Amino acid sequence: MPFSHLIFEPKLLQSIADLGFLKPTPIQNQAIPVILKGQDLRASAQTGTGKTAAFILPILNALIQPKAGQGPRVLILVPTRELAEQILVETKKHSRVFPFIKTICLFGGVPYPQQIRDLSGKYEILIATPGRLIDHMERGRVKFPRLEVLVLDEADRMLDMGFIKPIEQITKAMPSSRQTLLFSATLKGSVRNFSKKLLKNPVDIAISPEHTSSRNIEQKLFHADGPQHKMALLNEFLQDAALDQALIFTATKRQAARLAVELREKGHLAFALHGDMNQNQRTKTMQRMRQKKFKILVATDVASRGLDVLTITHVINYDLPRNCEDYVHRIGRTGRAGAKGLAISLVSSHDRSQLREIELFLKERLVFCNQPSSKSQAEKPVAASWKKKPFKSPNAQSRPGNFYHKKGRRNKFLTKKRFK
Ligand code: AMP
Repeated sequence: MPFSHLIFEPKLLQSIADLGFLKPTPIQNQAIPVILKGQDLRASAQTGTGKTAAFILPILNALIQPKAGQGPRVLILVPTRELAEQILVETKKHSRVFPFIKTICLFGGVPYPQQIRDLSGKYEILIATPGRLIDHMERGRVKFPRLEVLVLDEADRMLDMGFIKPIEQITKAMPSSRQTLLFSATLKGSVRNFSKKLLKNPVDIAISPEHTSSRNIEQKLFHADGPQHKMALLNEFLQDAALDQALIFTATKRQAARLAVELREKGHLAFALHGDMNQNQRTKTMQRMRQKKFKILVATDVASRGLDVLTITHVINYDLPRNCEDYVHRIGRTGRAGAKGLAISLVSSHDRSQLREIELFLKERLVFCNQPSSKSQAEKPVAASWKKKPFKSPNAQSRPGNFYHKKGRRNKFLTKKRFK
């Protein structure tokens, strides 16, 4: 079905076409008519399925009719600052044809003055994390007299993070006549119970079976014991000619910081993203990643949800996630918007039981691959031009140079030898 069968506002249709969206994704096909009818919605949709546009487009379509008064007409509640910023970007992309629809964003870890200034002006859409929103509500800066739509995005994650009480506090301050849209990776257990309290006769949409990972993401396992073995494999994977940008997940913040440094020492353009960095540092790192100023981001699960960088071709689990759902979220950072992606997990002997749990969760057997054929090649450094003194191993000189050394001429030896 083309977009013109779902959305009727010509300016919005033009904007969708300008963005290169040729046809609606399945979640958009199913959710947009429900939202336009004003019904409550409970949807399980995988990351990268276009779920943000699935709610933003019909919301914008409705906001075109002006409404007097102050305060948000739409509140989008999200678990993390990263997701808030990403939804802001997506919303601004679509709403730029309607200059009178202003969107503002509130999240913790940043100073208050700018947020206070934003709140004192007129705005229609508010994107917020629950904690900072409550801070502002308690100081009387946010009220909901004209609220029409509440969106709860990544509701399962918000519940995992202990936001049940804050969400209840926020919803109590809203008109009960609102429309509520809930998006979640899973609609089972606590999310279902919680949603029953907040939604009225919701329409349920399940886009793909829960717990399965996206089909356009190839998943590979490699056995790896110990940091040296993991580093040797990483070095190999990061030389894959098909790699545009890579996201590497570690179990701890310290490990993320240390691994980024070690990779830089080996000549890779790598930076870290974790919860110990302040918001400014995190935002700058993400901006630089999006601008392709570097290739490799080493992160904790702070980056496993919401992060939408279309050029991430590789996700590498340096450590397996402890939580099975995080596996799906992590690998969903690649293969965005229909692109192909590769997800590699390094599995030590101690990780085998965790791997079984993940497979049970996915209802899918994951395949171990042979070790890359040349370990010494794996240990070879990738000297990058930004590094003042490229690391040189004793063997490095005698090998055919890799493609970072010979600009424009990719080394056949390396490009042919894609790991299987
Ligand atoms: P999301 O699942 O909301 O995180 O969206 C993933 C990516 O898909 C974003 O970069 C969107 O801009 C993009 N996207 C959303 N809908 C479409 C569509 N119908 N056609 C092409 N790309 C889309």
